[in-house]
Amino acid sequence: MICEWTVTENAWRIEDGLYRILLPLGWDVPFVNAYLLESDGQYMLIDAGWSSRTSLRALGRALKAIGVPPRGLSRLLLTHSHPDHAGAAAAVQSHWGGSVLLHPRGRRERPSVAQMGEWARAEGMEGEPLERMLAGRHEPESALPDVIQPLETGQLQFGDFSFEVLHMPGHAPGQVVLHEQRRSWVFTADQLLTPLSPNVWYQSHGIGDPLGEYIESLEATGRIPADLVLPGHGAPFHGGPRQAAQDALAFQRDYIAQVATCVDGQPRSSWRIVERLAAVEGRRAADPAELAEVLAALVHLEADGAIRREEGGWAATGTSRGEGD
Ligand SMILES: [Zn+2]
Repeated sequence: MICEWTVTENAWRIEDGLYRILLPLGWDVPFVNAYLLESDGQYMLIDAGWSSRTSLRALGRALKAIGVPPRGLSRLLLTHSHPDHAGAAAAVQSHWGGSVLLHPRGRRERPSVAQMGEWARAEGMEGEPLERMLAGRHEPESALPDVIQPLETGQLQFGDFSFEVLHMPGHAPGQVVLHEQRRSWVFTADQLLTPLSPNVWYQSHGIGDPLGEYIESLEATGRIPADLVLPGHGAPFHGGPRQAAQDALAFQRDYIAQVATCVDGQPRSSWRIVERLAAVEGRRAADPAELAEVLAALVHLEADGAIRREEGGWAATGTSRGEGD
């Protein structure tokens, strides 16, 4: 645990020039953290929160209580483009000013509902689960501002602060982690979420091996020599990122092994494997939202050579044909 000084009901001062602002989300993860840095009367905000009036009001209240003047932000840095972190970027910029920084790989288009449907069907999902998945989707809104400065790997100076920007893809293609070496702080975005690991998805616009990228990023995060860890969700903590990175790695390795047990000699679609995984875990029905996550594990197992994708779906390499369902 750390010591935080209350500024207002959703904002705390953690250290000189470092504030945490808690913003509400509309779903099962209840809150996201934004962090505000102050140096010589200049302000930089890390993450903007969800695009909702409730979240914008909560942010406005906190910034006022801290003493940020109208249009007083110099910079708005987005750790990644997921809607809980970047959704309000355009609105925050228009109220509070500041240039917006995001890693170039964070600027990819989100798929439309029609593209999501095509993708899920191609992965074997149909009928009720498909309808349920599409019912929860909305057409992508362009929440990002038009002008964005590319946030590249390397040193980033802000007043008295000096950050090393580290590209940590996996959870999101353009996710960055910020290491303030002199103060021994690390802003870990969604790289580490205690007690659970963040999700890693392979979606309709998927490329490469996101889970493989995440595992590599996680190992690198665990080696960052910082004391104070400032995550995107949950309370900051002292003691460095090592243990949380190891826990997340163990979680992902178990998950990959579990998915691997659902693949045998008989080719099956990705959605059939999601259903088998639900059965192995003793759940009555598979959740359509799991498709992208299971697919990330399958793509990773394929990259490792443990399974292959053939006409009828995923099958284990070098095993005898299974007994079927
Ligand atoms: Zn998040």
